[in-house]
Amino acid sequence: MKPAQIVYRIRPSRPEAHLFEVRCTLATVDPAGQRFALPAWIPGSYLIRDFARHVVAIRAEAAGKPVALAKIDKHTWQAAPVNKTASLTVICEVYAWDLSVRGAHLDQTHAFFNGSSVFLRPLGGERLPCLVDLQPPLGDRYRDWRVATALAPASGVKGSARARGFGLYRAANYDELIDHPVEMGRFALASFSACGVPHRVAISGRHDCDLDRLTADLTRICEYQIRFFGEPAPMPNYLFLVTAVGDGYGGLEHRASSALLCARDDLPYAGMKGTPERYRTFLGLCSHEYFHSWNVKRIKPAAFTACDLGSENYTTLLWAFEGFTSYYDDLTLLRCGTITVDDWLGLIAATIDRVDRDPGRQRQSVAESSFDAWTKYYRPDENTPNEVVSYYAKGSLVALALDLTLRAGTNGRCSLDQLMRALWQRHGEHERERHPGIGVGDDDIRLLAEELSGLDLASFFAEAVHGTAELPLARLLKPFGIRLRREKGSTTPSLGVKTSASGDELKLATVYQGSPAQAAGLSAGDLLIAIDGLRLTPSTLERLLCRRQAGTLVTVHAFRRDELMAFSVRLGPPTAGKHRLRIKQQGNALRKAWLRGQPAVLDELGDDRRLLDDDRRAPSACR
Ligand SMILES: [Zn+2]
Repeated sequence: MKPAQIVYRIRPSRPEAHLFEVRCTLATVDPAGQRFALPAWIPGSYLIRDFARHVVAIRAEAAGKPVALAKIDKHTWQAAPVNKTASLTVICEVYAWDLSVRGAHLDQTHAFFNGSSVFLRPLGGERLPCLVDLQPPLGDRYRDWRVATALAPASGVKGSARARGFGLYRAANYDELIDHPVEMGRFALASFSACGVPHRVAISGRHDCDLDRLTADLTRICEYQIRFFGEPAPMPNYLFLVTAVGDGYGGLEHRASSALLCARDDLPYAGMKGTPERYRTFLGLCSHEYFHSWNVKRIKPAAFTACDLGSENYTTLLWAFEGFTSYYDDLTLLRCGTITVDDWLGLIAATIDRVDRDPGRQRQSVAESSFDAWTKYYRPDENTPNEVVSYYAKGSLVALALDLTLRAGTNGRCSLDQLMRALWQRHGEHERERHPGIGVGDDDIRLLAEELSGLDLASFFAEAVHGTAELPLARLLKPFGIRLRREKGSTTPSLGVKTSASGDELKLATVYQGSPAQAAGLSAGDLLIAIDGLRLTPSTLERLLCRRQAGTLVTVHAFRRDELMAFSVRLGPPTAGKHRLRIKQQGNALRKAWLRGQPAVLDELGDDRRLLDDDRRAPSACR
């Protein structure tokens, strides 16, 4: 009897043409005609991407003979019925030229792919175990290519290709198969252990990364987060799969790995002093994706427990899964001693500025933003700042506000840390204990927070999550001895626009809702020419405006559809200054417990005061 499993084989067949050859063989087929589909989206990135558009050739065969294959919608094919004793194989060529963490990319230097871009899903066979054969491209020039993936190797395969990582791997089902991105090529590889769990970092692309420094910092981040949720770690091993490029930034979480894209200058170099901003941002990205190993990969919104890969899956909870993760990514760096309290307060202030800058925060709640991620947040246009609030940025401020509310309301007895651990215990998918995980419903976070704290949080959630009122952060920070205020802003009057520059040309990228520019009829896309008859360029805008007063009427000339138009704009008040957080009261016990967190890593480092109360010096423990 044939084993009930799906066997895949993938080879970079023509790297110079960016083509993979992918075979999918099914032993037991639907007698009415087996259907195969590619996902329309990849979990973790909420946009319909229609990966099937990159399938450039496809055919089927059984017992060595061709089988007719009909395309029945944008991403589904149906094979003609075959003898049920015959295996059916579909062979396709997939074009891969998307240098992002969400798709597939192939050339003569490397191959990267997510399974959602290349592996056909036999409909009805999603729960079958999968075997996948990773094959190297043919030819001498690829002789030294290796494989990096967190897929589990299938036993019993040996040889030199195997030593480089090629050969058979297995996955319990289709979901698991596509949750393990694969890199092939020449990459730097380093390994480390976090709480006894083997971890690896593979970096492809040209770089001069100080791997010792990177693994030392990642060890602390990973160990902190494993202990935060409680040992044992849910994954048997973990892989950070990094692609270093000239300029780029992105990350995508998976159950035992993350795909990361960064600028090569973001990586640490030998002899580097301290934690420069670019490296801090990269560590924040690693911390973010790693935190997702729990929050969204194993604690999931109810809508994601059985994903429909063919269309949008709606949840109102991305503010918790992305926002809370964004809150904890940098808080982890602080609690690990990688950044100082000053650094961290600066990062929060920058997030407050980011949310505060756009009028969208007054039009959309974070729950609505989560639900509409597919069509709004992930498909930004010129009007997005006016209509959309980021469930990442505002979601992380909601996390901050909730943490402060829980701590202050219970005199430090309850916290967001405790809530996260309770979510993990009640809703988490604990593979080792065969606990499948119970999806988080729309109201579950509020109910659990109320249960743990004994507080009535109905109005907090109504306003912060489902409403658009400003978060009362200054008031909430006060009991923690931290003052939030605005610095003095510039005195230059404003048009109320966001511009984009290209050479000497200055275009309107966004005209803010209710702004002087909008009242005068200026629009996104207008090419600015002059103010009061004087030429406008990216370098003269500020100079021309700063000599005028708010309330002054100016004439702005602009091209729209190549027609010169004149607009009378009454200049608005200067934009407000940036936010700043400052510690006003030393030795505040509530703050100390909050910043130190549990487990108290800083205590283990032996000198918590250095970071918590004298926050001007960079910690030495991270070097
Ligand atoms: Zn995320």
